[in-house]
Amino acid sequence: MSRPRVLTVAGSDSGGGAGIQADLKTMLALGVHGMSVITAVTAQNSTGVQGAWELPVAAVRAQYRSVVDDIGVDAVKTGMLASAEIVGAVAELIAGTGVPVVVDPVGVSKHGDSLLAVSALDAMRTELLPLATVATPNLDEVAQLTGVHVESEADLRRAAAAVLSYGPRWVLIKGGHLPGEAVDLLTDGTDEFLLRAPRHDNRHTHGTGCTLASAIASELAKGRSVPEAVRAAKDYVTGAIAAGFALGAGIGPVDHGW
Ligand code: PLP
Repeated sequence: MSRPRVLTVAGSDSGGGAGIQADLKTMLALGVHGMSVITAVTAQNSTGVQGAWELPVAAVRAQYRSVVDDIGVDAVKTGMLASAEIVGAVAELIAGTGVPVVVDPVGVSKHGDSLLAVSALDAMRTELLPLATVATPNLDEVAQLTGVHVESEADLRRAAAAVLSYGPRWVLIKGGHLPGEAVDLLTDGTDEFLLRAPRHDNRHTHGTGCTLASAIASELAKGRSVPEAVRAAKDYVTGAIAAGFALGAGIGPVDHGW
């Protein structure tokens, strides 16, 4: 039996809740073959990030070539990229691949730990986002990348236009932090979908963004259109958040075994 092949290019979360570990769990749950290019290693648990170390750019390139040249890939997801040098190298590698690319422009963790240097924002805007099939910023990342501060559902459109100006084909603005219902806006500048989900009163949401982006990449690898893939991924992450559980002294992870 052949399986769609999905590659995550992201950081490791030693606590197993976010990053590469969440990505591979999502891919397993969605029936695709998950592969990883690790960009950085974090010492991390439910209370935050205690340390982070980037890998040399040569190690990032070598992992990518090993995977793509032999196994091949049907979709790529990027997450924590740490530095401008890694963002640039990943953009250069992905440019020749010709498969759907989901860019989660990870900036800062829920605990406020920086996962992307401020000096890398420009490379994110000008080198990686133009290659994205779908970009999936949350509201903090939108503000950091575009300067647009979203305070209401109406602001979501302005934010989407600002991100689309960098060149991704679609943008999914994750409005989960707005008061009320969790509303996300998916648009390519022509078609527009407002995706609503009931808010789960569950603080154990570590890994939500990584899980959503990996689920989108997994569904795109199966050949679904972007709107179909995002809807299926949103259903998956909504279930994972509902099943999120306490672990350690802080914020527990979303669950993949529901
Ligand atoms: N650690 C790594 C390696 C990540 O890639 C991410 C998010 O993308 C996080 C931590 C943050 O996860 P959260 O904000 O869901 O706690």
